[in-house]
Amino acid sequence: MAAQALASSAHSEGGYATAFPFFGAERRGAPVLAFTRIDEKRVYRKTQVYEPDYVVVLDESLLDTVNVVEGLKEGGMVLVNSSKQPAEVDVGIDVKMATVDATSVALEVLKQPATNSSILGALSKATGLVSIESIEKGILQVFGDRLGPKIGEKNAKAARVAYDRTLVGESHGKRELKSAEKWLPDVKELPIGVAGVPMSTSAGAVGPGSFVENKTGTWKVFRPEYDTEKCTMCNFCWFYCPEGCIYRKEDHMDFDMDYCKGCGICANECPADAIRMVR
Ligand code: SF4
Ligand code: SF4
Repeated sequence: MAAQALASSAHSEGGYATAFPFFGAERRGAPVLAFTRIDEKRVYRKTQVYEPDYVVVLDESLLDTVNVVEGLKEGGMVLVNSSKQPAEVDVGIDVKMATVDATSVALEVLKQPATNSSILGALSKATGLVSIESIEKGILQVFGDRLGPKIGEKNAKAARVAYDRTLVGESHGKRELKSAEKWLPDVKELPIGVAGVPMSTSAGAVGPGSFVENKTGTWKVFRPEYDTEKCTMCNFCWFYCPEGCIYRKEDHMDFDMDYCKGCGICANECPADAIRMVR
């Protein structure tokens, strides 16, 4: 909800933003990740964020088990929910550091240790990325919609209190941190059509997307029209096509109209406007 409220705040300032969570083991209290991307231009990337500008840690105890600065960009900042001074928080490297005792703020204002709204106020103060007024608006929208306007208002207040109590400084880390194993999607995690490897079916057939006899091309009302001149070969269309009917050639993309079902995803994802859907 915090990631979404941050995205909503940025959007209310005229930017583009996406946000999503990543859950590990499904158990209450288990560590979770959430990502927000903010830009002045439309955001096309949908992967997790591997090289963040800012890292926000809602539970200080994670610093003992997770290398939270893994991938953090040069000049990036870490914000930690902690009662310590920024210089007292050790994340293993020299880094811009902000701290806020978000747990105390949450207990005071919300009467429960839910720190996700307080931390957004601190993020606004520490980074200036979005104004505290926009953060309040984002919280009212996202928390208010989900939990009711009264709770939305309380959470907006928690953000404001945390904003006023946030400390910004630097920390010179000494602890040794191990790098997490890099995760990259392998062929099994790509959309099924993209796998681009022969797939057997119960009918014994092989082919792109579903299977070779299923000519999904007959479904389409619109078809993609592709402009080679505009194409930058970024591969987004290839990655997202659910039918796996876009092929990468040396200097252009090829579309297999026998299987293109006309969903328009490729045109929607193309950042270069190189694909448009036509009857
Ligand atoms: S419209 Fe684009 S994304 Fe959809 S099936 Fe056709 S080529 Fe693939
Ligand atoms: S058509 Fe668009 S999405 Fe596909 S490779 Fe070219 S620029 Fe990228």
